[in-house]
Amino acid sequence: MDRVSVLEQEIADLRKMLHEKETELYQIKNGWVMRQLTTPVEPERQNYNNSGVQYSGNLPKWAIERYSRQILLPDIGVAGQEKLCKARVLIVGAGGLGCPASVYLAGSGVGEIGIVDYDTVDVTNIHRQILHYEKDEHVSKAESAAQTLRSINSRIKVTPYSIQLDSTNAMQIAANYDIILDCSDNVPTRYLLNDLSVMLKIPLISGSALQMEGQLTIYGYRANNNPKEMNGNYTGPCYRCVFPTPPPPEAVGSCSTNGVAGPIPGVIGALQALEAIKYIVGHSHSGLLVERMLLFDGDDTTFRTVKLRPRNSECAACSDTPSICQLLDYETVCKTQAKEKDLDLHILPPENRTLPTDLAGVLNKTDQRHLLIDVRSEPEFLMCRIDGAVNYPIEKIDGVLEKLVGEIEECDQVTFICRRGNDSQIAAKKVLDVIGEEHSRKIKDLTGGLHAWSKHVDRQFPVY
Ligand SMILES: [Zn+2]
Repeated sequence: MDRVSVLEQEIADLRKMLHEKETELYQIKNGWVMRQLTTPVEPERQNYNNSGVQYSGNLPKWAIERYSRQILLPDIGVAGQEKLCKARVLIVGAGGLGCPASVYLAGSGVGEIGIVDYDTVDVTNIHRQILHYEKDEHVSKAESAAQTLRSINSRIKVTPYSIQLDSTNAMQIAANYDIILDCSDNVPTRYLLNDLSVMLKIPLISGSALQMEGQLTIYGYRANNNPKEMNGNYTGPCYRCVFPTPPPPEAVGSCSTNGVAGPIPGVIGALQALEAIKYIVGHSHSGLLVERMLLFDGDDTTFRTVKLRPRNSECAACSDTPSICQLLDYETVCKTQAKEKDLDLHILPPENRTLPTDLAGVLNKTDQRHLLIDVRSEPEFLMCRIDGAVNYPIEKIDGVLEKLVGEIEECDQVTFICRRGNDSQIAAKKVLDVIGEEHSRKIKDLTGGLHAWSKHVDRQFPVY
């Protein structure tokens, strides 16, 4: 075993030991506190403060001190703090949204936090995913997040779930929680979480952030257990009431493809935590982002809210006669994968695909006219590129197809290239559809894209 493997194993063992000790510490510190909070109070033991307002007197000294800044708020108070200490929140996604959301929920004393993420930390995450540090690279994000949250508040219970949430495991996990925060980044998970929240009758606080914009709303709110509601029968819309069918996969962006400014998910994640706290302490739906969506535009730093349609009496998920009564295979329904990293399209036939080492061989030949077409966006192309490549961003390729075909016809060999080898196939296919058959054999796409180029040919090429 080389030194790196030895160190990695030792660190993994130490983390496991740390986790066990933190769990033991949590149990010792909180065993009696949670018992106190869940034991009904005898009337003669209740206390009254100076203003004559009754409070249960259940909070221990450390909790009063620790949470005093929020207990001072009339909307929270001692009763609200007790609710927070008993609350159980499931956070799906330990990324740009899940990190800030869980920091504030842990800080506020939410009794149990579950955090789900299948992925491991990589260096591209750290500019916005504030629970992960350089030392956490290649560690499970759920574990890394849990560890940081425990160091922020050792009085709460944090459970990491290092798995891909899907229809086989979601119900079992979510049944232990009272609220779900959707901090995910893909469409199948959004539909999964929506149907889960409707079936469990718990709200879904849904956030999203991309490039310079963020969105936030609460789906599936039910008034029936909140005494402050005027209308106890009120139910807010679910995600399917507003978006009955999934968007086409090509219409959906992602942070890894389109980029995101770090503070954008920071803002939205913090507001997800705020809505969760308000919900837990008992705000009525008019004060929560129910039937309304907050839109944050980081370009001109403006917030606005738009009204959403009310609950749809015909909704497939939340109507009185739903057609969706069990969780589905959401990747099939949404025609896309929940794990973006695994997305591996097979559009071109094998004869139109080439391997990185073969491309390197072609690039070394000087007797051939070779055209290397990079279809990534202009900022990506400016960030890093293979020498000699020309940039035809895929989103603009339709407008210049004729010119491009003319150039290709003049060359002996043409290779389309992108980051991972999916867009390059789409672009090559557009050309193959219109170019004469005599030219089709010289058109290739680089299998695995620049990631594969970096792995097999040029280790110095940045992987992002
Ligand atoms: Zn609905």
